[in-house]
Amino acid sequence: MIQEIGEHVFCNEYVVCEPAAGDYMLHYRDRGCLTRVTGAGGADAWTAGDVFELPRLRDFGDKAPDQLVYAFAIGEQRFWIALCDEVCAPEGFAYEAISWLRYAEPAELLFAAVTGSQLDRWYRDNRFCPRCGHATELGPRSREVVCPECAKITYPKICPGIICGVVDCEGETERIALTRYNGRTTALWALVAGFTEIGEPLEDTVRREVMEEIGLKVKNPRFYKSQPWSFSDTLLVGFWAEVDGDPTIRVDHEELKEARWFTRDEMTLERADDRVSLTGEMIEQFRLRGREVLVVSPGASAVLATEQ
Ligand SMILES: [Zn+2]
Repeated sequence: MIQEIGEHVFCNEYVVCEPAAGDYMLHYRDRGCLTRVTGAGGADAWTAGDVFELPRLRDFGDKAPDQLVYAFAIGEQRFWIALCDEVCAPEGFAYEAISWLRYAEPAELLFAAVTGSQLDRWYRDNRFCPRCGHATELGPRSREVVCPECAKITYPKICPGIICGVVDCEGETERIALTRYNGRTTALWALVAGFTEIGEPLEDTVRREVMEEIGLKVKNPRFYKSQPWSFSDTLLVGFWAEVDGDPTIRVDHEELKEARWFTRDEMTLERADDRVSLTGEMIEQFRLRGREVLVVSPGASAVLATEQ
């Protein structure tokens, strides 16, 4: 998954420090991130492994970007975001779409670029106080935006949502409900997913979304893993759940193009190389392990995650 960056440790604590020449500088414009592509993979973006670099402060020479805010560190490497609208792009660097970067390497820079894009969006969206409209200031000692007029403090926005692998494993049966969205360019088979509503525990989001999208009652929701999904300011929480009673799928055509049950043999390999998304991992887990996915307790899934 996108947050799995090998040996590297993501350090999210806000640190009060000064930018150094070797620190990475993230700059975003028009949904793109300032990058330099150093190696192109094959024609297939899913498996390609395009390679990219991010600029460091020293790459800007004497034209250092301003309005820098500390973002995070990965291992010893610090990352800053330049909140100014324009920077003087160093030689060879250009803006690449964040959605394209989803398939690029190395994994730790991909995670930094994507996570930084969420922070950048949040800082830019909160230049004015959401309560009184006054210009805000950056908190000097933590990741917050402060209104000097009414003292409102705004924290980064994270929207929780669920992904649910709905399975039918009664008796000899072993199948999973897959869905396809309307109007998406990448119409891959997916799992039921949706945002948590105000006043709703995650387990109820699971029950409501499964009922809304495919008309099934579910029981025994089990937590699998979670995943930050900065493309949409989301924290995704993955659950397995078993169909409860009538397994007849009724598709919500407002949202979905189609939905149906798949046995393990019927499942395609289109997700086998998806190394970034929780949805892809869960679909592949069911294809490989079938009903075994239900046996895994939360503790055991952590062990599995380490083994993979
Ligand atoms: Zn205010």
